Amino acid sequence: MSDLPKALRRQLEDDWSVFATTVLHHDVAPDGTDKLLLGCPDGRKVECVLMAEDDRRTVCVSTQVGCGMGCVFCASGLKGVERNLTRGEIVEQVLRLRNLLPSEERLTNLVVMGMGESLANLDNLVAALDRVCSPDGLGLGQRRVTVSTVGLPEKMRALAALGRQYHLAVSLHAPTEALRNALVPVNEKVGLGAVMDAADAYFQSSGRQVTFEYVMLRGVNDRPEDSAALAGLLEARKAHVNLIPYNPVAGLPFERPAPESVDRFVRVLRSRRVSVSVRKTKGREIDAACGQLRRRFEAAVSP
Ligand code: SAH
Repeated sequence: MSDLPKALRRQLEDDWSVFATTVLHHDVAPDGTDKLLLGCPDGRKVECVLMAEDDRRTVCVSTQVGCGMGCVFCASGLKGVERNLTRGEIVEQVLRLRNLLPSEERLTNLVVMGMGESLANLDNLVAALDRVCSPDGLGLGQRRVTVSTVGLPEKMRALAALGRQYHLAVSLHAPTEALRNALVPVNEKVGLGAVMDAADAYFQSSGRQVTFEYVMLRGVNDRPEDSAALAGLLEARKAHVNLIPYNPVAGLPFERPAPESVDRFVRVLRSRRVSVSVRKTKGREIDAACGQLRRRFEAAVSP
């Protein structure tokens, strides 16, 4: 901005910055996945990821520092939730990642699957997404945004009432009440039935098919009876299942499923006309999953 007086430019440089966050760490995996660890003004850290696949350029953003849901296999919730991210901190993750793209490439998709429970920070999340999706912002289509939730029924209904076109993904992870209580502790208060009702309501009001995420843990929820129960739960619904082979977290006792049990899940679900896909693991070498980079970084700096 050379049309501004020099003194003012110096003052702006000293006292003002476009970004509130700083990049503490930037990792690039052999598959091209970028992961940023951002430092917030209060010293807290958040993670976000940029993935490339065919023509897609997808960013994955966090909504909270830590997470209060306590899913037993997830690194983000190991130390609870510290605070919600502001709308600016959410938008900055998108901008920082977008700025890594070569100038001829554009962001095509956004998934809210980083650290934190997205719907526990609904207001800031929607304000940030409105900015990203606005023609004055990045102009990303609402239909290219996926909001992933542990399944908070009231918040799912509140999101539906806002009338946005986001795709909703519900982290189911278990087809029965007892197993879900064991893996997703918040389910004890909420109940599987209420989660499914709210998912049905979201589908009805948005017209968008809901995805159910299912992290596969060897010997825990990947057994033949689990695939049968999952098919039973979903066959009467217009739903999609995304199977996620577990990304091992240091210190947690879970393992990736055997390839045969992933194949069996796919076969059983398809035979009962439930649509299913298996999520590709990306960026494994850089701890790209779910709160793992922050954890490694904090372990390194504060043993
Ligand atoms: N709180 C939101 C967003 C979480 S992250 C939610 O629960 O959906 C997005 C997905 O990654 C969730 O389904 C989450 O359960 C899953 N996940 C968490 N840790 C994982 C791990 N180590 N390996 C594979 N998936 C994991």
